Amino acid sequence: MSLQTLHPTYDNGGVALSVIIAIYASYVALDLARRVRGRDREAVVLWTAGGALVMGTGIWSMHFVGMLAMGLPITITYDPTLTLVSWLVAVSVSLISLLLAARDRLSRSAWIIGAIAMATGICGMHYVGMMAMLLTPVILWNAPLVGLSVLIALFASAIALRVFFAMRRLSGLWAYLTQGVAAVILGTAIVGMHYTGMAAAGFPAGAVCGTANGIGGHNLGTMVVFASLILLSITLFTSMLDARQQVRAVSMAASLEQANQQLQGANAELQWMAFRDPLTGLPNRALLEDRLNGALNRISRQANYPGKRKLTKLAVVFIDLDGFKPVNDSYGHAAGDQVLRQVSNRLSELIRDTDTAARIGGDEFLILLEEVEGVSDAVSLADRILQSLSAPLEIADREISLSCSIGIAIFPDHAVRDRLISSADAAMYVAKYNGGNGYAVYAPHMQSGATDQMELQQALRGAVGREEFQLRYQPKVDGRLGHVVGVEALLRWHNSSLGEVLPDVFIPLAERFGLIIAIGDWVIEAVCRQLSIWQREGRHVRVAINLSGYQLRQPDLATRLRHLCTRYSVAPHQLMCEVTESVAMEDTASTQRVLRQLSELGVSLSIDDFGTGYSSLAYLRQLRVQQLKIDRSFIRDLDRSADARAVVDAVIRLAHSLGLRVVAEGVETAEQHAALIALDCDELQGYYLAKPMTAEALREAGLLGSWASS
Ligand code: C2E
Ligand code: MG
Ligand code: MG
Repeated sequence: MSLQTLHPTYDNGGVALSVIIAIYASYVALDLARRVRGRDREAVVLWTAGGALVMGTGIWSMHFVGMLAMGLPITITYDPTLTLVSWLVAVSVSLISLLLAARDRLSRSAWIIGAIAMATGICGMHYVGMMAMLLTPVILWNAPLVGLSVLIALFASAIALRVFFAMRRLSGLWAYLTQGVAAVILGTAIVGMHYTGMAAAGFPAGAVCGTANGIGGHNLGTMVVFASLILLSITLFTSMLDARQQVRAVSMAASLEQANQQLQGANAELQWMAFRDPLTGLPNRALLEDRLNGALNRISRQANYPGKRKLTKLAVVFIDLDGFKPVNDSYGHAAGDQVLRQVSNRLSELIRDTDTAARIGGDEFLILLEEVEGVSDAVSLADRILQSLSAPLEIADREISLSCSIGIAIFPDHAVRDRLISSADAAMYVAKYNGGNGYAVYAPHMQSGATDQMELQQALRGAVGREEFQLRYQPKVDGRLGHVVGVEALLRWHNSSLGEVLPDVFIPLAERFGLIIAIGDWVIEAVCRQLSIWQREGRHVRVAINLSGYQLRQPDLATRLRHLCTRYSVAPHQLMCEVTESVAMEDTASTQRVLRQLSELGVSLSIDDFGTGYSSLAYLRQLRVQQLKIDRSFIRDLDRSADARAVVDAVIRLAHSLGLRVVAEGVETAEQHAALIALDCDELQGYYLAKPMTAEALREAGLLGSWASS
């Protein structure tokens, strides 16, 4: 027996509305799915619960509107309880899908189970919603179509899950576009399922709607549509706001992190700069003192807690390069910097990780040796340093050799903590005084050096006023003819309490404390006065004056010299200025200008201590120099070293080829004298020939006679 069934008609507007709601709800659902992961647990729970509610309502309202769009020749109302149940089913299915979306990844099993659960939920919602009509006789179902609707639901759920997980990796415009397309597919599938489900229903003719207090009608539809659209919109808006805020929070966290890193970087750099020597990268004095204090504190702690193993000594090693200034002066500061860097590299290689090598001044380095057994550890390091520095340094395209002077002080053997560095410094001075290229271990008498210096400086200040200076004259003798060709004026200082002080001691001190100009002026005037006396006696003498680099930096030196010459009726060519090699090579414009002015005045120039600096003869020629004085150290080694002989020979030949006269200074023996004559040295000077002496002694020795009226 077949029952006649009614064919419902559909209100096009209602169908279209249901499609729009389906797509919109899908879009919101996909958007919500993004919100249910991540950082804040509370937010996730809130989004999942609220999202399930809204999404469920959206899907349910689409289904409800779809049903309301259906027109049957009977008045249809819906049972409120079953309608509520169908809504609850929609919310549950949404909850399931959101919980799935919160997973990190979608495994195959989660996908299948999830899709089945969602499809069951959707179908459940739909068919419970249909049952809410409570028709009598009951709806006749078309099984294949019901099956198809279930399949569509399953298909839609599976697709939705897959699409969502694929889409989650995207961001920006692409994410929104994909979300839109996915929403259209998903929405269409849900609508498809719904209308297939509807089509599966056969409404028996003459059926009556058996709901008491049923709900239905056009107004209800409109209400549901509005309510769900508003709900969906508010949710979407909130979701988008949250997304934006999250992006901003992430970017703020990122920029905060970046700022933090920059701050840390700047901090590290500042700290590096505060405690490092910028040239060599070694620790500076501040860092060394800090480490020294730390080490001293550790030692005193150890002393308070006597343990098994006791290493309660440390060593401070003070290193000062010998002859660094001439390198700087001759080759320029860039070369000087290179030297310092190479020296610091070598020092760093010689120490242990626990030790500290620091640069504390121009060419001064300090090494802190922790945990030493005694002085022997420091001495063995000093030996290694001397050996390491004896290998030539490569500067630009040449090699130069340097040595250093080292002072050693041990705590607690040699000094209390505050005087440790100054004790090592004092020991270094002793090593330097002994000729350099060696080390000295601190001894108590060395510390007096510092106080001596202050005493000397005090005494030196009033020396000119107290007339404590005198000049001695040392003859320069012609190599071939044997007669005196000139004298060198050498300064002497006799102080009532200090006694006789050597120029090698007080000249550097006078330079350091700015007293050299006054002293130098006294020397020039004294020489001019003596020359005028000799002149009156009918003797025509040439006198060499030693000039300090500080004097050469005075722009009016030549002018003052000229005034003095005029005042004492001295011809400028009677004067010769001796300038040490390193000073002559000084590249400063003022020094060069003064040297030129002196030479224009008619004063001759002589390069003193030649061979200790690094000058080129060709360059000296440009300076209009007339004379070279080979340093005493070469003359001393002349009769024992073939090398020294070769150097002197080469210097004399080269100087002659440039038209310069050569003077050998410090000639002490007959052998040296003979050797120099054989090498064709122009002039000789030294104790072998004559010591520095007073003007009277010169006359009495008859030395003036031989050059008297030339
Ligand atoms: P210098 O200009 O190279 O002078 C030569 C030094 O060698 C002098 O020492 C002289 O006494 C010493 N001497 C000469 N012959 C011999 C010798 O055969 N053997 C040895 N061992 N020494 C010899 P002095 O007078 O002590 O002067 C030392 C340095 O002090 C001078 O070296 C010069 O650089 C500086 N000096 C001396 N007088 C003055 C001055 O008036 N002004 C300036 N700025 N420096 C001066
Ligand atoms: Mg001299
Ligand atoms: Mg000299």
